[in-house]
Amino acid sequence: MKTHRIALYPGDGIGTEVVAATVPVLDAVASITGRFDLSYESFDWGMAHYDRHGRVAPEDFLDVLRGFDAIFLGAVGWPARLPDHITLTPLIRLRQAFDLYACVRPARTFPGVVGPLRRSDPIDVVVVRENSEGEYIDNGGLFATGTAQEVAVQTALHTRRGVERILRFSFALARTRRHTLTMITKSNAQRYSYVLWDRVLAELAPEFPDVRTDKLHIDAATLELVRRPHTFDVIVGSNLFGDILSDLTGGITGSLGLNPSANLNPERTTPSLFEPVHGSAPDIAGKGVANPTGAMLSGAMMLEWLGEADAATLVRDAVEQTLAAGVATPDIGGLTTTAQFTDAVLGRLRQG
Ligand code: ATP
Ligand code: MG
Repeated sequence: MKTHRIALYPGDGIGTEVVAATVPVLDAVASITGRFDLSYESFDWGMAHYDRHGRVAPEDFLDVLRGFDAIFLGAVGWPARLPDHITLTPLIRLRQAFDLYACVRPARTFPGVVGPLRRSDPIDVVVVRENSEGEYIDNGGLFATGTAQEVAVQTALHTRRGVERILRFSFALARTRRHTLTMITKSNAQRYSYVLWDRVLAELAPEFPDVRTDKLHIDAATLELVRRPHTFDVIVGSNLFGDILSDLTGGITGSLGLNPSANLNPERTTPSLFEPVHGSAPDIAGKGVANPTGAMLSGAMMLEWLGEADAATLVRDAVEQTLAAGVATPDIGGLTTTAQFTDAVLGRLRQG
């Protein structure tokens, strides 16, 4: 039987709580399907590590992680104690070193959970964010600082290789869903960068005749996602636009606690990273009320990535049925604790 080796990086705050809630669910589906095993090694990187060693992760943490099949992260950071740029450094290094260039963030409505738009038609979208270049390459400078002539320059970098690989990934993803891909740019105002995106999309589209493509500028996209969110399927954008849109799609479908994400290396030369979209939520940490849905669904994405699609479906179905039955943590209007929610999901799984 195959054993998938998982590195657990629970991190800080509710990160540790939602990872602890997810592991028994993953174990349960492994034993129900009987087709694979999961082995875990857990790392205490984050604030706990910082308190003992003066750094949030050891120097060789990338080498440590390289040998695993996947990395499962809770959340890192505790802004009141340590600035985000320090706590997030290992994650940024990880994304770059492992070339996790496809950031995938599904967002959907769930029966039983009322989203802020209060629509009756379900929303089910996936935002694919280019995660390795674009607007976040950190290149630029300040000139004549502090003078009346001060100038700030910040350049974005879009390569054909980078654009092509994220569009190919998105086309392939659309094929597994409702065959619709919407690309978000601002090519009417930025005459070089997003025009390259337009060109590469036009070149690739004939290879995927079964996928409908559509283009929207970021401003129109924010409007249309609020006005007709149910019409979108896969949405792809640059680092900046993908960042903005994945918060928007998370927001219009419900609580932050519901949304999963994956940072993928589609070539599978390095382990990919799976994590709920939410942060460490210091305001509710330690109270046992964090919603573990986003983490459990991230676990489902991880199983799917590891080739265990049936197990992933079991997790998704059990979580969905639990929510539909009205089992709700406080963020979605209930009184259920993390542990009770987890027990409810495990109960559904065992019922089959
Ligand atoms: P980060 O900077 O790490 O991204 P953030 O500032 O975006 O974090 P979160 O830590 O995700 O914010 O929390 C934002 C709010 O959402 C908090 O009030 C928190 O209580 C709530 N929240 C986030 N995740 C969950 C969850 N899983 N269950 C319940 N509430 C949550
Ligand atoms: Mg945040």
